[in-house]
Amino acid sequence: MNKKFYQMTLKERLDHLNLSADSRAILEQTALDAVVANNLIENQISEFEIPLGLAQNFVINDKKILIPMATEEPSVIAAASNGARMAQSFVAEISQRLMRGQIVFYDVKNLSVLTEKIATHHDAIFKKAQEAYPSIVKRGGGLRHIDSRFFDSGFLSIDFQIDVKDAMGANIVNAILEGVSALFYEWFPDEKILFSILSNYATESLVTVTCEIPVERLSKTGDGLAVAKKIERASQFAKLDAYRAATHNKGIMNGIEAVVIATGNDSRAVNAAVHAYAARSGTYQGLGDWSVSADKLFGTLTLPLAVASVGGGTKVLEKAKVALEIMQITDAQSLAKTIAAVGLAQNLAALRALVSEGIQKGHMSLQARSLALSVGASGDEVSALTQLLRQEKKMNQALAASLLKKLRE
Ligand code: NDP
Repeated sequence: MNKKFYQMTLKERLDHLNLSADSRAILEQTALDAVVANNLIENQISEFEIPLGLAQNFVINDKKILIPMATEEPSVIAAASNGARMAQSFVAEISQRLMRGQIVFYDVKNLSVLTEKIATHHDAIFKKAQEAYPSIVKRGGGLRHIDSRFFDSGFLSIDFQIDVKDAMGANIVNAILEGVSALFYEWFPDEKILFSILSNYATESLVTVTCEIPVERLSKTGDGLAVAKKIERASQFAKLDAYRAATHNKGIMNGIEAVVIATGNDSRAVNAAVHAYAARSGTYQGLGDWSVSADKLFGTLTLPLAVASVGGGTKVLEKAKVALEIMQITDAQSLAKTIAAVGLAQNLAALRALVSEGIQKGHMSLQARSLALSVGASGDEVSALTQLLRQEKKMNQALAASLLKKLRE
């Protein structure tokens, strides 16, 4: 009988693809431990590399820190470093770090019986939650609060706020919810549970980061106050227009996602949380606020950041471990504060460029290198072609290809 793709060895999977020798050789270049790579995901055929760089100039809560960022986009790390240089220092705070899980009933028959029994039997629920995941309790975590929210159309969400310590907590929360669901099935045989699952909208894991910048730092030509006022206006506009807000937030996520990936965290979870938070008023808005007062620009950014220093990919991906080592970070809250600071620095750099020389100037000068690579420049050709492209008013692939051809003549 033919093997299914997932049953094949790596070699069999590559044979099955019938690739050219060159393409196969590319897929065969790997760095991860083969057992890790094959067991971390399903149907594994290779690995996917993106460059890892270090953002400079960050001082967060009085501590200097080098920040690893994994990204394929030119100019992201330069912009983060530039934003951090302008800000010089960031203050980051977290007031609580809990993850929320939901057990959702549907077609609820007797709302008051359900909610009253749950409200008056917290002890039994807390006991069940402890039994479902004793090790997190030993670590000082576990279930903290229980609430309920009723929705039209007969849905009832029982919300559990859980301290998952330094983990992101998806599996911890889901295991606790499963335990408590079993209790609910016993208690409410006439009611129906639709599902129980962690919520990625981590509103109990908010991080706030702030910075203040003397306006003269924003411009070399003495118009720092004007630049600061335009940054303030740009952040106001991002609250009004979803078209702008999406791009404004994409700029923030350029930095956030790069650190999230470099540390083996779940970028989908962070993205989902941040964008849900951006829409918390009912309208999708730009995150972060910038305001000018007394010759200073003040920046603040609040985000849900349920990132982890343990669990998930943080310890199985070797480079993620090294990323945490470079930052000397051993706990989830320090990582979340660092990531939020990168988001604010990225936002500052993008807004400053946008309202002064325009985003393209700096961006394209850094894009020149990737353009050179994209048309096939190699070795010394890369820097030679990059120089030539930077002298041009406009650069594109056709121009890069023709300049490369001339270089090779
Ligand atoms: P893990 O399942 O890897 O659990 C983390 C484990 O780390 C804990 O169970 C704990 O085990 C151990 N640990 C060691 N030190 C600590 C510490 N200081 N604090 C807390 N735990 C510690 O990770 P998560 O539960 O965090 O789940 C994250 C994974 O789940 C990610 O890979 C994510 O992509 C995935 N996921 C995400 C979903 C979502 O976002 N909706 C849904 C499903 C999965 P012990 O105490 O037993 O030693």
